Amino acid sequence: MLKQTFGRLIKSSTRGVAKEKLDCVVIGAGVVGIAIARELAIKGREVLVLDSAPTFGTGTTSRNSQVIHAGIYYPLNSLKALFCLRGRELLYKYCSHHDVPHKQIGKLIVATRPSHIPKLNHLMNCATQNGVDGLRMLEGFEAIKMEPELQCVKALLSPASGIIDSHSLMLSLVGEAENHRTMFSYNTTVIGGRLEGNSIHLYVSESKDLGNWNGRSPLNPELILIPKLVVNSAGLSAPALAKRFGGLNTDAIPPVYYARGCYFTLANTRVAPFKRLIYPIPEDGGLGVHVTLDLDGQVKFGPNVEWIDGVDDISSFLNKFDYSVNASHAEMFYPEIRKYYPSLRDGSLEPGYSGIRPKLSGPGQSPVDFVIQGEETHGVPDLVNLFGIESPGLTSSMAIAEYVASRFLR
Ligand SMILES: Cc1cc2nc3c(=O)[nH]c(=O)nc-3n(C[C@H](O)[C@H](O)[C@H](O)COP(=O)(O)OP(=O)(O)OC[C@H]3O[C@@H](n4cnc5c(N)ncnc54)[C@H](O)[C@@H]3O)c2cc1C
Repeated sequence: MLKQTFGRLIKSSTRGVAKEKLDCVVIGAGVVGIAIARELAIKGREVLVLDSAPTFGTGTTSRNSQVIHAGIYYPLNSLKALFCLRGRELLYKYCSHHDVPHKQIGKLIVATRPSHIPKLNHLMNCATQNGVDGLRMLEGFEAIKMEPELQCVKALLSPASGIIDSHSLMLSLVGEAENHRTMFSYNTTVIGGRLEGNSIHLYVSESKDLGNWNGRSPLNPELILIPKLVVNSAGLSAPALAKRFGGLNTDAIPPVYYARGCYFTLANTRVAPFKRLIYPIPEDGGLGVHVTLDLDGQVKFGPNVEWIDGVDDISSFLNKFDYSVNASHAEMFYPEIRKYYPSLRDGSLEPGYSGIRPKLSGPGQSPVDFVIQGEETHGVPDLVNLFGIESPGLTSSMAIAEYVASRFLR
């Protein structure tokens, strides 16, 4: 695949590893990388997107709640707050114009005990400062009137929240990027790079060769790319990849923590118990085990927070993380869900899927903002690193793309 895509490039080499100069390279075809590629291409740049997987969107982007967040939880002026609000606006517009399935169904964040009410008030203040509009604090009975299966003493209604089919979104963004001459090369892994003179040389291999690698022999690139601009949007692997860029100030790479979030689906239910998204008060590391509805009506509960160890660099590039959902964890989901959905029947939860959050804060630590860094931080010209793009990364994707293009294009 790599050789087919780069046949022209490989032939142009006469000795050693083939080298080729390019305009822009985006590493990672998740929703963020794709949105950035589309934005750069629309701005007239020639873009090549590399992904280690056989197609786009096989990482975190296809393992999340598919919620369009309103922007409630994030500290004032944080990148998460700014990108979530701007991203939501761009996303709703984009989905409407391009027929991407989505629905603005609204969300209730619920206090199930009086002791939660101050936290709910805090969320309301935070969201108002962030500029989230349409919010309403409801008494328990008002919320229960809207959602009869609900149990709560107070609730915050967020009409701006919604759901989206993230695969259709990516398909649309990829199509547009391709229409603007972006090339996608799958099964293609960036294994490292090095600053030479003023430009970064990216070391690239076919993923299948890495899959057979014994872990001991030297890892040689099959191709060296020399782009004018590199965007490292490799999601869970972005920090590990940045550490493999010779010449980069490694002190600039934050420590990364992985928090798996598992989902259970509601089995044997013809009619969804709720019309809106239902969220409890946020917990350490996540937003709490909430109710998410698919556009096809399936009900999911999750994600929980399970701190896990990482994997070695190459396994990380090939997405060999542990995505297993432990069926016995349903026992922990039932009591959490019954706090707001008391009539949840025994035996109705079935293991669904999981995703892994690329977090920059560990257990018990305060949440950390998205990190988007350029030369001034890491010392390599025309390299953009994106770290910690956890939730609300899907909602923020188009705003992140807008920001990267406006800040880093020369
Ligand atoms: C459980 C969970 C629930 C979430 N819920 C929501 C939500 O409801 N709403 C919301 O807005 N956000 C949500 N998020 C966050 C959102 O899913 C992510 O922020 C977003 O998908 C990140 O996209 P990405 O493109 O950065 O990463 P990814 O989708 O992971 O893409 C990274 C890509 O890089 C590729 N790659 C990795 N290493 C290499 C390499 N060396 N060479 C080439 N390619 C490489 C991978 O194959 C992958 O395709 C959730 C996240 C999780 C984990």
